[in-house]
Amino acid sequence: MFRLILIIAALLIIAQLVRIGLRQLRGPGPEADADGPEPFEQVTQCPHCGVHVPKASLDNGGTCPQCHQ
Ligand SMILES: [Zn+2]
Repeated sequence: MFRLILIIAALLIIAQLVRIGLRQLRGPGPEADADGPEPFEQVTQCPHCGVHVPKASLDNGGTCPQCHQ
């Protein structure tokens, strides 16, 4: 009887480890992509210097802040 309890406990621990492992493979926090704002900024390439910058930091002409200096 004691062995049966031991086996069940071991199976529960293994199931818990597999669940944690799968969560880590899928990336950080399944709650993060469930709702809320977009976690990452959209990045685009500056046509002048070719550097990748957040799309919001480009001006109307598509120039990055670095090209303005
Ligand atoms: Zn640039």
